[in-house]
Amino acid sequence: TWQKCIAHLQDELPSQQFNTWIRPLRVELAGDLIHLCAPNRFVRDWVSDRFYSRIVELVTELSPPGKKVQVELGIAERQASRSSASPLATNPSTSRQPFQSSPIAKDPEQVFSRGQVAAPSVSYPPQGAPQIITGQRQVEVEGGIRHQSSLMESYTFDTFVEGKSNQLARAAASQVASNPGRGYNPLFLYGGVGLGKTHLMHAVGNALIQQNPNAKVVYLHSERFVADMVKALQLNAINEFKRYYRSVDALLIDDIQFFSGKDRSQEEFFHTFNALLEGGQQMILTCDRYPKEIKGLEERLKSRFGWGLTVAVEPPELETRVAILLKKAEQEKATLPSDAAFFIAQRVRSNVRELEGVLKRVIASSRFMARPIDIPLIKESLKDLLALQDKQVSLDNIQRTVAEYYKIKIADLMSKRRSRSVARPRQVAMALSKELTNHSLPEIGEGFGGRDHTTVLHACRKIKELRESDGDIREDYQNLIRLLTS
Ligand code: ADP
Ligand code: MG
Repeated sequence: TWQKCIAHLQDELPSQQFNTWIRPLRVELAGDLIHLCAPNRFVRDWVSDRFYSRIVELVTELSPPGKKVQVELGIAERQASRSSASPLATNPSTSRQPFQSSPIAKDPEQVFSRGQVAAPSVSYPPQGAPQIITGQRQVEVEGGIRHQSSLMESYTFDTFVEGKSNQLARAAASQVASNPGRGYNPLFLYGGVGLGKTHLMHAVGNALIQQNPNAKVVYLHSERFVADMVKALQLNAINEFKRYYRSVDALLIDDIQFFSGKDRSQEEFFHTFNALLEGGQQMILTCDRYPKEIKGLEERLKSRFGWGLTVAVEPPELETRVAILLKKAEQEKATLPSDAAFFIAQRVRSNVRELEGVLKRVIASSRFMARPIDIPLIKESLKDLLALQDKQVSLDNIQRTVAEYYKIKIADLMSKRRSRSVARPRQVAMALSKELTNHSLPEIGEGFGGRDHTTVLHACRKIKELRESDGDIREDYQNLIRLLTS
């Protein structure tokens, strides 16, 4: 019943909502009782306000007739954190308030907008914080570890364009900026490449430093954390390493998917994580996928990541892409008419980084040729890109061809049917869509009966695997590519 209920919710809700609020719920089934554990009070309250009655409705609808299933909503226990705190975990130099869970929100909107008003009386960060870390500074660390922090000054909230796709993430980030260490901790942002995760993370860091120039804000890529740790081990300076990371006011770690498979780093990070949480120090983490889906990451870390707030950043819709282009053009002091912005935004759909790259090219041609930016100029400067798009296969075309090839109905590709005879062709079609079009994963999911982007990702991986291990699939795939591109 619960599986069906989840499937329904996934269909009904925008994927961002689903990923942010429903997916983090842990489920315990006990007879006729479905117990849902939210990672914290904030999530529980939000779910309770917005989704609970719908969940109950669905469960009732989907239960076998005559069976009365109850749904309970609670908060996950977090005892583990307290008991696992080693003596190292307490930071002797600080008098911070211990970590507290998010304020209770009657009206969730209010939490996002409350800002400074909600800030307790303790100042953040504490006076006499050890070092200032800003974009330009190189910081010496005891034990010979050199740490270069690199907060990008231009990545601020002001330069971040808000749209439906990133609204929640932005709201959460700005809440963290005004209430660090005491609201959502950690803040966990996830989503595909080039969607603004790093930008938002820096925006929080910059805001913290602006509020308190002495704040010790450390930003680093997870690979850097790993490299530093290895070095510290070699230099016999692991204690200094620990001390350094535990002395920060805010720790921003980017792209934590790179922790995958690195057990010792995960171990170290786990302890750092606990220590910072205990100390009420803010953590922000990003990842290219939902934490539970990171292979090679310890369960205890995955579950801990869910203690704060996990928010998805989705690819921007057309209007947001246009707004981003206009804003970037303004920053570059270039005049971009709105029809030209629409023209570009309609053609570059995958992510913001690509959008920026294309705009830069257009601006450069405009300056080089001393011509204003208009559609003819864009067509000229993006000739290759546009030609490539013309050659591109459409989702329709792929679905038609795959259905014909496997002698199934196109409707089966969109349906929820899971029998092998349709599920496999569906996966093949999704993988082909990823390879042959430049639609994003969510767009492809949308095109296949409104599936989630993770389903598409899973299909791509599966087919890649099968093409190596299964001769039939390999041949089918090649035949289909030939059919589609000839
Ligand atoms: P990610 O970390 O998700 O891969 P980034 O934060 O590096 O993505 O973003 C890629 C580029 O796109 C950066 O230059 C960033 O400034 C820009 N960008 C992304 N989202 C936005 C946005 N909503 N508004 C303005 N710029 C954005
Ligand atoms: Mg990034």
